[in-house]
Amino acid sequence: MALFTKDTIDRVREAVDMVHLVSEKTDLRRVGTRWTGLCPFHDERTPSFSVNADEKLYYCFGCGEGGDAFKFVQQTEGLDFQEAVEQLAERSGVQVEREQDDPAAEQRRRRRERLHALLDRATRFYATYLREAAEAAAAREYLASRGLSEDVLAEFRVGYSPSAWDRMLVGARQGGFSEEELMAAGLAQRGRSGGLYDRFRGRIMFPLADARGRVLGFGARQMGEDRGPKYLNTSENDLYHKGRQLFGIDVARKDAMKSGRFVVVEGYTDVLALHQAGIGEAVAIMGTAMTQEQLAELAKVGDSNRRGMVFLALDADRAGREAMLRAARLAEDRGVDLRVIDMPEGTDPADLVNQDGADAFKERMDRAAPMIEFQVRRVLADADLETPSGRDQALGEARKLISAVPERTATRDALVREAADRLDVPVDYVMEQAARTRPASAPILSSTGDALRAERELLTLCLSSGDLGRDYLARPKDDHFALELHRRARDHLVQHFDDPLSALPEDDPALGALVHDVAFAALERPATDERVLRMSLLELERRRIEREIKRASQDGEHTRKSELAAAEQKVLQELGAVMGQTA
Ligand SMILES: [Zn+2]
Repeated sequence: MALFTKDTIDRVREAVDMVHLVSEKTDLRRVGTRWTGLCPFHDERTPSFSVNADEKLYYCFGCGEGGDAFKFVQQTEGLDFQEAVEQLAERSGVQVEREQDDPAAEQRRRRRERLHALLDRATRFYATYLREAAEAAAAREYLASRGLSEDVLAEFRVGYSPSAWDRMLVGARQGGFSEEELMAAGLAQRGRSGGLYDRFRGRIMFPLADARGRVLGFGARQMGEDRGPKYLNTSENDLYHKGRQLFGIDVARKDAMKSGRFVVVEGYTDVLALHQAGIGEAVAIMGTAMTQEQLAELAKVGDSNRRGMVFLALDADRAGREAMLRAARLAEDRGVDLRVIDMPEGTDPADLVNQDGADAFKERMDRAAPMIEFQVRRVLADADLETPSGRDQALGEARKLISAVPERTATRDALVREAADRLDVPVDYVMEQAARTRPASAPILSSTGDALRAERELLTLCLSSGDLGRDYLARPKDDHFALELHRRARDHLVQHFDDPLSALPEDDPALGALVHDVAFAALERPATDERVLRMSLLELERRRIEREIKRASQDGEHTRKSELAAAEQKVLQELGAVMGQTA
């Protein structure tokens, strides 16, 4: 879909009633020339949230969340920039225009729309077939035996594909779709003799939709025992990419944005069962290893104020562990708090809520351990304690994991003690071993996780703002970035401002991934209002000072601390000025 024109975005901005918009999320009160209320982004009793009605900006003096109307909608509804423009245009009745596509792009867009329409039609057909067809009785029984209600099946648009060879084919042709379109949507395939037939037959159909609810493909579970693989998915095509999909994301997103967390499970029915049990934030990954793209989608539950949480309720077998460690690294880079729910062996989340109720699952969520802790405990539990070599091996694995936990933290101390205890070696020895294997790129402290999005936000805003952005990008000093990776990204962007994806170092995949993310996010928004850039930079300055205050207070430097507090007051006053408040 082509991007909205700059003019459209300006007119939408013009039309927005900021006070009205924000009032839907929190009550605002007029105080002199400004509006204030309880912050919708963090818990508080006295209002520190401020709205500048004229400039259409918001800022929270408590948690530092701030921006313009578009960002407010992005944050509260979990939308990307273009989606936020669309939604605000709708509510304020602004006629939108998109950038003129070249004819080839226009044709691709129209084709995608046709395929979306076809998949939507297929979804509705399968869902009706599950409810009504005699041959779907066994499927209905199976789903009922898993404890799933008709309501939850309807909400996730679960269906059933007829066992005949060509029901989808015939119906879609009658609806005006071509054979080529059926193939491209992954609904039909060609046999050896060249004839077309339905890809999915006699299977329970789980629609795989994107976050906006558009169906891109299907996961299909067989009902008979003798007909191909148990699970069959749409094969990779222009619309459907397995590594991007999260089953249930369209339904789970609303709840997840509210609670700030996702629950990741393996099976389709697990998602349905959890949803039915009142845990609405569940999604399923297709395949065992989590991809960069899936994590990016899950990370959206966090914001510059709140670190997003992702709970994994997966099989934690030995093979899955390496994959989980990869996910853990991706999560650190994105500032996501990844936790592992300890599941009883051989029991999936659907079984658990069916047998023991929703509370049993919620209790396990409450007890979920951070990824590293979970892995260390697994290594220790699996260790062969009978032989010295078995203990050495476990110690080797454990120290690698422990070395990834920041030093001088309670978590690290506890893990060292546990390892020493279990492997029967001195605490000092484990501590020294772990210190020696300190990884080159140490993960950040979780306490700084809330600063990460603010830093990434500044990079994105600068990149989308032309010469003004180039100027602002040069302003922050190294210590304005809590994450070393963001410092490297800033240096790269300063050097390659006009072509950020060029000259990315091959030996630094984390930098490559971040620059890609920032560059693409910047692409879809037009030049940013200078006030927003200013606010974003001041916010980084405020966070930098707060980090220093913490350090000074740990080191007992009281004079330094009060100097810093005064500096922070000045920054807050400047932020107040941006918000239209006079001191
Ligand atoms: Zn706040």
